[in-house]
Amino acid sequence: MARDIEKKIFKTIKKYKNIVIARHIGPDPDAIASQIALRDSIQLTFPNKNVIAVGMTVAKFKKFGLLDKSDYENFKDALLIITDVPTLERVDGIENLNYQEIIKIDHHPCSTKVADLEYIDDSASSACQLITELILNTPLKINQNIANNLFLGVVSDSDRFLISYTSVKTFKIITRLLEETKIDFISLYDKLYERPMNEIKFHGYLCENLIYNDNGLAYIHISPEILKKYDVDVATPSNMINDFNYIKDVLVWTFITYDEKNEVYKVNIRSRGPIINEIAAKYNGGGHKFASGARIYQESDIELFIKDLDNLCKEYQKNS
Ligand code: AMP
Repeated sequence: MARDIEKKIFKTIKKYKNIVIARHIGPDPDAIASQIALRDSIQLTFPNKNVIAVGMTVAKFKKFGLLDKSDYENFKDALLIITDVPTLERVDGIENLNYQEIIKIDHHPCSTKVADLEYIDDSASSACQLITELILNTPLKINQNIANNLFLGVVSDSDRFLISYTSVKTFKIITRLLEETKIDFISLYDKLYERPMNEIKFHGYLCENLIYNDNGLAYIHISPEILKKYDVDVATPSNMINDFNYIKDVLVWTFITYDEKNEVYKVNIRSRGPIINEIAAKYNGGGHKFASGARIYQESDIELFIKDLDNLCKEYQKNS
């Protein structure tokens, strides 16, 4: 049965002719899958509406479906729906959009209100978990393709149900999704997990060169030369950070990758105990308690950042 917030979201969607769906910059499979699944579901339910999913195209995510051109000429007074993103500054592709109302559907913690209607559950495994509930609990329609995307978004963001945000609710909604859509979920894993050999070799480089200490901190600096050597891009380390979970004696691990084009160090941080998003926020970042990201602009701040994480691990060890 639909909850109040789901009924309100459905009613608002019904009201608008033009709808734009956006997600965060530097998208991951959950961000892309949630926006595309919601677009396709609204379009399937209301064929006369104009619904577009916007943001920068990422070649390797084309398998989730294609994004639309953010040509806003015909999108006057639109409804903007943002998924998997807590703040408007991190929304990709809405410059020049003239919108009337905003709906936010997200699982990141956020203390400030940015939308007219907010469906936030920071205990949810993924944005796709929330979109699945929304679709299954309201008259929004679903087909195999939409179900495939939703399933992959949940699997990816929960890291195959390994991450602590996975709950009974996650399994219940996935069970409902599988029962109601009969998707062949095993056949979908190639879309998430198939990798070219150069990425496997790069993964080997990360394993060999990760620095770790007695406090439970592991880190690595990844230079543009190394990215070139392995023929991988600046987003590749983000896809590998979760693979370093469950290393005995490692509590917090971080990759610091220099993005030459944008002249910034892109930072991925993960944890198996200490809460890291406050440190991420100190370095132009944010995210979840145990999965965060940051941006470091000065090389000299890297040392301070590592020191902060090291102290966090030390404190955590002392208190546990
Ligand atoms: P990543 O390490 O890029 O997979 O990001 C982990 C989590 O942190 C995701 O939920 C991101 O949305 C969030 N995140 C990453 N970078 C930033 C940032 N610069 N500011 C706020 N949140 C971020």
